[in-house]
Amino acid sequence: MAEEPDGARRDEGELALAWDALVATARRTVTDGLVVGTSGNVSVRVGDTVLVTPSGVPYDELTPDDLVAVGLDGERRAGTLKPTSELPMHLAVYRATPARAVVHTHAVHATAVSTLVPELPLIHYMAAALGGPVRVAPYATYGTERLAGNVLGALEGRTGCLLQNHGTLTYGDSLAAAYDRTAQLEWLCRVWLTASSHPRLAPALLTRDQVREVEEKLRGYGQRG
Ligand code: 13P
Ligand code: ZN
Repeated sequence: MAEEPDGARRDEGELALAWDALVATARRTVTDGLVVGTSGNVSVRVGDTVLVTPSGVPYDELTPDDLVAVGLDGERRAGTLKPTSELPMHLAVYRATPARAVVHTHAVHATAVSTLVPELPLIHYMAAALGGPVRVAPYATYGTERLAGNVLGALEGRTGCLLQNHGTLTYGDSLAAAYDRTAQLEWLCRVWLTASSHPRLAPALLTRDQVREVEEKLRGYGQRG
């Protein structure tokens, strides 16, 4: 009979699997066109350990040996590469929300919208997937505690926000959920930009109540419930 791995080894195995999933998600942000080069960053929480992409390393170069792990206080737990410069923002989200994964990108349409409005108008019911009208966190220099604070403010009651003149941040209870919200957010921004670029007509918008109704309904969407 196979021996049960001890606690430390089991944790190591769990972290290695989470790292593989994190690298796959980070690569997807590039292949899906949400990020160019080494822009953006991804993290995932395992217990009270947070795995993060390293700063400025192309995702296709990452190997299992490049795992970077920190505690919720930012103290290094594993790896030698420098963590993402947006570590303060990722850790702030984990400390303040039930997030298990966080995705940050510089997606084109979302970044464009972040320069135009303080909140994404309710152009489509899928805003419900992010908890309602998505706010824009006021601009602050990348990697700062100030940016982390602005993002937390914009996330109140939402699972995603835009970062003014910068990009997107979404979170979820898994990497798949956080990634999907980023893709939906980019799509919403693209729809709004497309509709509002008409020279004479302005898009019809939904009310907060209409989107709230969808928030309820989405809980049973697809094969759920
Ligand atoms: P990192 O390469 O340090 O993760 O920075 C990219 C980024 O998007 C900063 O906002
Ligand atoms: Zn960024």
